[in-house]
Amino acid sequence: MAGNELLARFRTHAQEHGVAMVEATVDRLELVEGGFRASAGAQAWHAQCVILATGIVDRLPDLADAEAAIACGALRLCAICDAYEARDDDIAVMAAPETALRHARFLRTFSRRVHALDAGGGGWTDPRLLREAADSQVHLHPRPVRLTCTGQGCEAEFADGSRQHFDTLYPVLGAQAQAHLATGLGARTDENGELVVDAHMRTSVPGLYAVGDVVSAINQISVAVGHAAIAATAVHRGLPANWA
Ligand SMILES: Cc1cc2nc3c(=O)[nH]c(=O)nc-3n(C[C@H](O)[C@H](O)[C@H](O)COP(=O)(O)OP(=O)(O)OC[C@H]3O[C@@H](n4cnc5c(N)ncnc54)[C@H](O)[C@@H]3O)c2cc1C
Repeated sequence: MAGNELLARFRTHAQEHGVAMVEATVDRLELVEGGFRASAGAQAWHAQCVILATGIVDRLPDLADAEAAIACGALRLCAICDAYEARDDDIAVMAAPETALRHARFLRTFSRRVHALDAGGGGWTDPRLLREAADSQVHLHPRPVRLTCTGQGCEAEFADGSRQHFDTLYPVLGAQAQAHLATGLGARTDENGELVVDAHMRTSVPGLYAVGDVVSAINQISVAVGHAAIAATAVHRGLPANWA
């Protein structure tokens, strides 16, 4: 099932249980008496607890119409999600050399034709990386001067004028965790800026929970949904009992 269909089903399911949906960008989260105040422009909501599921924004390479390239599979962002769809293809990874080679070696379990492109521009000089690339039969390339999506894949052009076609390209350029609402309250993050949570999805700010990609964990829908179940249960348990 495609993501949009899954989201539509989740939305219907929540609405059937009386959940009110508001589309707005929360620009402020504050600690107030009794909990939190979240505001989006002139609108504001108060709650005892907040569960943040604000995700990440992937850093993309300089490529015209990256959305179309993702839609046709020329550009892919998550090898554990969809590398099986690219098996036996010419697969390229673009990242700083160490990262590019690590991901390329992972992708070698899906294809014999895997390429590592140096996104940093420093070149493939480290003897250890050269040895590992040779051992795992990963083809090394310098930093491309231009990348184009052809509809059937990506074409990289290099400084010497040569060109190389890849059926699919995984840029591993990192992502921006959308954690600022939490860090503004002092929530702890890891070295990637992702929120650190405990086994109940609690951030270091009491009453503030976080789930999904914004959390320091594997970025997968099933993981995000599992996080949400854990956080919702913890919040539910913490609500004041009403025995009436
Ligand atoms: C191209 C691509 C392919 C993928 N394929 C797969 C796959 O095949 N299988 C799989 O399991 N996973 C896949 N993933 C990963 C999957 O999409 C994520 O793990 C999942 O969507 C995480 O859910 P989330 O709710 O944490 O974040 P998201 O789905 O990113 O949702 C976060 C939402 O929060 C909103 N938001 C952010 N800040 C605010 C704010 N201040 N106020 C209001 N709203 C805000 C954002 O606009 C967004 O709608 C893929 C990801 C990408 C990019």
